Amino acid sequence: RLEIKDLTRSFGGRVVVDHVSLSVEVGQVTCLLGPSGCGKSTTLRMIAGVEMQDSGEIWVDGRLVCDTVTRVPPEGRSIGLMFQDFALFPHLSVADNVAFGLKGPKARKRARVCELLERVDLLRFIDSFPHELSGGEQQRVALARALAPRPKIMLMDEPFSGLDNRLRDGIRDETLSILKEEGTAVLLVTHEPEEAMRMADEIALMRAGHIVQQGAPYNVFNAPVDKEAAAFFSDIN
Ligand code: ATP
Ligand code: MG
Repeated sequence: RLEIKDLTRSFGGRVVVDHVSLSVEVGQVTCLLGPSGCGKSTTLRMIAGVEMQDSGEIWVDGRLVCDTVTRVPPEGRSIGLMFQDFALFPHLSVADNVAFGLKGPKARKRARVCELLERVDLLRFIDSFPHELSGGEQQRVALARALAPRPKIMLMDEPFSGLDNRLRDGIRDETLSILKEEGTAVLLVTHEPEEAMRMADEIALMRAGHIVQQGAPYNVFNAPVDKEAAAFFSDIN
C-alpha cells in the first residue's frame, strides 16, 4: 500500500505539485490523470525517490520512506518503475536486463528471470538482445525487469504511449493481469482519459498541481467536478 500526504514541490518559485495526497491499495490500479504539465511525472519521481519534495510524506506499507527528515534511497523503497523513456539496456541480453535489479545466488536469479519471462510469454527470447525485439516485446521485458525484485508498488509513467495503437490494448490488458497476479499496488500516470477508464480502479484527476477529483472511473466520468473536467473527458465515446 502506497500513501502520500501533502506532497509539494516548486521549481523556480512556481509550485508544480501542490499538497497532493492519495493512496494506492494492494492489487489496485490508481490512475493519476491530467493534462500535459500538470505535475504528474514530478509526483511520480518524488515517490520513486529520484526527485526530492519540498514537503510532505511518502509511506510504503506503513513505513515512512520520505519526509523532510527521513530519506530512504530509491533502491530501498520497494518500488518498481516503468517509464516510457526508461529503456532496456541495449548492451545486455534479455536475461541480464531482467536480472539487473536482483541480488543473491546466480541459480536463484536465473529461476526468477525464467519465471517472469514465461509469465510475459518471452522465454524464447531469453538470450536475445533488445534490438532483436519489437517495441511491444521490449515493453514486456521492461515489465518483467520491473517486477523481478517483487516491488510492493509499481509506478508507471505513460508506459504504453510509444506503442502502436493495435498493440497497445493487448499489452495494457496483459500488463494489468500480470500486475494483479503479483498483487502489486499500481500508480499509473496518463494524460489519456481513455487509458484511465480502461485500466484504473480509481482515478485521481490532476490539474495545475492539484488533485481536483478522485473516485471510481465510472463516477469521475459521469459526475465530473466542473466544466473543465467534463471537457477533458468529452473526447471519449
Ligand atoms: P506530461 O503529461 O507532459 O508528461 P506532467 O504532468 O508529467 O506532463 P511534469 O513533468 O510533472 O508534468 O511537469 C510539471 C511542470 O513542472 C512543468 O511545467 C515542467 O516544466 C515543470 N518542471 C518539471 N521538472 C522540472 C525541473 N527539473 N525544473 C524546472 N521545471 C520543471
Ligand atoms: Mg509526464
